[in-house]
Amino acid sequence: MKTGFIGLGIMGKPMAKNLMKAGYGLVVFDINPDPMRELAAAGAETASSPKEVAEACDVIITMLPNSPHVRAVVLGPDGVIEGAAPGKTVIDMSSIAPLASREIASRLAEKGVEMLDAPVSGGEPKAVDGTLSVMVGGKKEVFDMCYPVMKAMAGSVVLTGGIGAGNITKLANQIVVAINIAAMSEALVLAAKAGVRPELVYQAIRGGLAGSTVLDAKAPLVMDRKFTPGFRVNLHIKDLGNVLETSHEIGAPLPLTAAVMEMMQALKGDGLGEADHCSLVRYYEKMSHVEVNR
Ligand code: NAD
Repeated sequence: MKTGFIGLGIMGKPMAKNLMKAGYGLVVFDINPDPMRELAAAGAETASSPKEVAEACDVIITMLPNSPHVRAVVLGPDGVIEGAAPGKTVIDMSSIAPLASREIASRLAEKGVEMLDAPVSGGEPKAVDGTLSVMVGGKKEVFDMCYPVMKAMAGSVVLTGGIGAGNITKLANQIVVAINIAAMSEALVLAAKAGVRPELVYQAIRGGLAGSTVLDAKAPLVMDRKFTPGFRVNLHIKDLGNVLETSHEIGAPLPLTAAVMEMMQALKGDGLGEADHCSLVRYYEKMSHVEVNR
């Protein structure tokens, strides 16, 4: 099966490489020529537009920043829709607004093209390892057909409902991660300000009820002052924007998410938009005039 991959950034490039490792023939496109050159050197074919990718492939994967980018690549001039034909499938693995997924899917359906929304969790290390968690929305038969392609990049691939459900699941994931990082930041800043070593607090609590994947992934980075991304504050702001837009539309108030969104906006204002989202600790450090070190 020939597979197309559009969007070869932090996540897309290693995901595309894992597809090739699994034996899929690959056609790639990105507006940035550098990752295209790298993938071509590894054996992929390159295309000059999303339309050309769609003409050449049965399954077209997109891994782009947000809804406007996916709309432009799929529905815009020289877009996937211009090269797609009945029987082809688009798998959008970007994290975008669920309503945008539904709109794009219905435009593709008019041309007989199927779509799954299949955002991922796990970040760059798991994209490289091929152990991402994929949360998928779409028809069961399309999911079953595309499962092996997604599994080549992932540890788990779970269908959570119809089209849009993948991105609703991803928004739920991003709520839990954001609020967890804020909670960890409050705890470590409290410890540092009270004169108790954050490293010892971390070791003491990580095996109990307060332990979490977020705590284990982010507390060491914070204590070592490593704020290179990982996952950028600006991308988390994008996700929380999609969370709040969706929650307001359906009437589900999310006060904790709204509070963390404002903290992230403050970080962006302080020039930390491109830093890792564990920079949330620096919002608290500024207020308490303390730094969290081991
Ligand atoms: P990125 O900015 O590194 O990569 C995006 C890529 O898309 C870039 O290479 C860019 O050149 C390309 N692009 C943008 N517009 C394009 C267009 N019109 N045509 C073709 N290519 C275009 O972003 P990323 O970190 O790889 O994230 C991609 C998606 O995955 C986002 O939705 C993000 O929220 C999600 N995500 C990221 C992480 C992470 O840890 N980085 C984790 C989980 C999910």
